[in-house]
Amino acid sequence: MELILPEHIIFERGAISKLPEFTEGAVLLVTSKGMLTRGPVDKIKTLLGEIKIFSDVEPEPSMETVEKVKALGADTIIGLGGGSVLDVAKYAAMELNAKKIMIPTTAGTGSEVTHDAVLKVEGKKKGIKNENLLPDVALVDPELTFTMPKKLAACTGIDALAHAVECSESKKSDETTKTLAKEAIDIIKINLKKAIEGDELAKEQMSYASLVAGKAFGNSGTTLAHALSYPLSNQGIPHGEAIAIVLPHAMDFNGTDPALSQEIKSIITETGLGNVEITGTAEELAEVVFPDKRHLDNNPKEVSKEDLINIFKKILE
Ligand SMILES: [Zn+2]
Repeated sequence: MELILPEHIIFERGAISKLPEFTEGAVLLVTSKGMLTRGPVDKIKTLLGEIKIFSDVEPEPSMETVEKVKALGADTIIGLGGGSVLDVAKYAAMELNAKKIMIPTTAGTGSEVTHDAVLKVEGKKKGIKNENLLPDVALVDPELTFTMPKKLAACTGIDALAHAVECSESKKSDETTKTLAKEAIDIIKINLKKAIEGDELAKEQMSYASLVAGKAFGNSGTTLAHALSYPLSNQGIPHGEAIAIVLPHAMDFNGTDPALSQEIKSIITETGLGNVEITGTAEELAEVVFPDKRHLDNNPKEVSKEDLINIFKKILE
């Protein structure tokens, strides 16, 4: 067994204040437009002084955005945002050989501790795994998630839940990642609903659960549900919402423990996510998923193209 994790993982309220301990040379902050007007960017400027800022990371970001970040150059890249921002920051830093410091502002992707990035290549979402994507420092400050709107809290929470469920069943999972995944599932079961309603302690717990799930799936990978979600996200359905739609079907196909499966379905229903229009036929959607061997080869049960078509038929019902 081998666990690959960042050298420093810090989880505490106010963790962002530790930034100056880790930055080196020219610093570039990668974030989203929406984050600019919120507190953390000003806080970072106060802590570090003059730094370059790139704030044009779009949702479901593309490789072209990575190129724009790379063009700015840096010795240290700080990613501040949700999974999209962190993935762009990690990929650009990898190519520039810069130090990677990741600060999540949502509670779901776990990207701050994984060596994965999901980026659009020629308009299609593509998962990339590379040990050089691994952040050097994960600064997880739960206070940064307190301002998340309800829908974002729901989407990211369901994503974290799926990471834990899928990773605990994945072919690559072992006792360590299974234990981490179980811990994350147990915390999310108790806290997601309260976190969506705005309870700060529950949000703090969700932030921790996302981190724990990230440690697990960063090493054991995700499986069928994540594979099924990609063609939905290619149509602009947010990642967590796409996951909410497909996860129940993936659990049915895989024969996930019935009691756990039932609990997870109830949690998903409570979030109210998934009332969206999906375009395309079952055959067309299956066509996109079938080549995704990275996820499908890791699934506990073998998945044929016929299986995918049948699953999508149920999803489209
Ligand atoms: Zn995910």
